[in-house]
Amino acid sequence: MPATPAYPPRSAPRLYLDARLDESTEIRLEGSAAHYLLKVMRIKEGQPVKLFDNRTGEYLCHVTMLGKRDLILLIDGKTRELEDVPDLWLLAAPIKKDRYHWVAEKATELGVAKMVPVQTERTQNNPVKPDKLRAHMIEAAEQCERTALPELDPLIKLETLLENWPADRHLFFADERIHESGEGSFRKALVAHDGPAAILIGPEGGFSDSENAAIRAMPQSVSVSLGPRILRADTAAVAAISLWMAGRGDWS
Ligand code: SAM
Repeated sequence: MPATPAYPPRSAPRLYLDARLDESTEIRLEGSAAHYLLKVMRIKEGQPVKLFDNRTGEYLCHVTMLGKRDLILLIDGKTRELEDVPDLWLLAAPIKKDRYHWVAEKATELGVAKMVPVQTERTQNNPVKPDKLRAHMIEAAEQCERTALPELDPLIKLETLLENWPADRHLFFADERIHESGEGSFRKALVAHDGPAAILIGPEGGFSDSENAAIRAMPQSVSVSLGPRILRADTAAVAAISLWMAGRGDWS
């Protein structure tokens, strides 16, 4: 007896809607969301669509009316609650735009709770475009089935960030200088430091000596090595988040 196919099919489009969904039964979509469903997905009446609102959870809907530039969805029911996201922040100095957008996308997929662009002495002229970063995070959340979006903070100077650092949050400092010393075992750092955390990744040119000293002077700072090779900043971000997620996040 062939298994009955799951409903909705995994291929059902899944979109973020910036509106509280648990109080509405009928939703009118227009703009880019409508364009994506009508023109890209060529959705038909009766077909399923999943929506999540980053407030209450995820809902299964189906199309009840198709317009030229808009469509109406009817909510059939809630499929998932708003999820608890592992309490990990990514603090990353802006790098070349495309790579930085890639970091935002990967950090979202890997499960971070917040991304904080950090201005450091050697940050090259890579202006941060928050709405572009946010768009990449939303697209990644739609694809990886998060029901909660990561937060995105405005660009902040490293000095200001450290001055206002939360007392209860570990600051995992990815320091490429410490491998030779034999200190900085990420595994040991994870065992020793449970609770809210952040990972700090420098720019293409790394941190200056004074920045390195200021970071290490923080009582919450935990210097960690990502091995004997110098990783690109984007590689380092993904490697460090993955290690933390596997050790302290929601992967195990
Ligand atoms: N200072 C580096 C150099 O000598 O070329 C450049 C910095 S690296 C491209 C960018 C950032 O990635 C660093 O600031 C650090 O945060 C992180 N990183 C790269 N490789 C690392 C490693 N092996 N261990 C720890 N962090 C690393």
